[in-house]
Order: sequence, then C-alpha cells, then structure tokens
Amino acid sequence: MKCPRCGHLESKVTDTRAILHSGSVRRRRMCLDCGHRFFTNEIVCEEYPTVIKRDGREEGFDKKKIKIGLMKAFKKCIGVEERVEEIYKKVLAEVVSAYVDKIKSEAIGSIIMEILKASDQVAYLRFASVYKNFETADDFACEFKKISSKE
Ligand SMILES: [Zn+2]
Repeated sequence: MKCPRCGHLESKVTDTRAILHSGSVRRRRMCLDCGHRFFTNEIVCEEYPTVIKRDGREEGFDKKKIKIGLMKAFKKCIGVEERVEEIYKKVLAEVVSAYVDKIKSEAIGSIIMEILKASDQVAYLRFASVYKNFETADDFACEFKKISSKE
C-alpha cells in the first residue's frame, strides 16, 4: 500500500475494521517512512482458472453456476443450504488449489461428483443424472449399482 503522502510502499496495519457489505475490509495503516496514517479498503481477490467448455470456447469461471448445480442436486433436502455451502466451498477450494490457469468444464463436473459421492449419495446421483444426461432409468440404475457395489 502506497502512502498517499510520501509514496513509500511499506506500511503497518494499526487497526482492522469490520468487513463491509461489499466484502472488503477496512484497515487503518501507518506509513513506515513518514508515519502518516491512512485508511484502505481491501478486497479479497480469488484467482479462478479460465473454463474451457466442451465446444472449446473459453469463459470466465462462474461460481454461481456451481452453486445452482448443487442446489438442484440437493433439492428438497432438510438443511440444504448449509450442506450446499459446505460442498460449494470444498469444490471452489479444490478448483483453486489444483488448477492455476485453465480448467475443462468436464473437470469441474468431476470434482463436484467426487465431492458429492463422498458426502451425499442421493445428491450425487441427482447431480450425475443431470450432468451425464442419463437417458433412461437403466442408466440411472446402473450408476446406482456402481455406487452400491463399492460399499
Ligand atoms: Zn509516508
């Protein structure tokens, strides 16, 4: 953070205020050179990879799409919002930690399915049925058998 008075780049945080509605954090800083005190509004920036779609086009990573997909998978379940939030965070953490530059949309689907499979099989099946476009009830039953036989 550049001091507004002398332009020195190093400052010390002297106070951190509540998180504002925008998601930014207000900090009070003191310049290590001239001692000038000033405020900063800092925004947390998360770096997500670019998504490569099935048709090869690229688009920005859309967190909302993941949330919507998960909401559909958990429909009508009790306490759904907390579960979704928990899994949503896991998915995002996995994407951020494993992919720096680009990610295929299929890989996002696989991450979601792996995490769902480990935590909620009904939601997993519901998600997989949409994601994999199961055509018939047989496909669905087949996938269900695959899961059941692992236990
Ligand atoms: Zn200064």
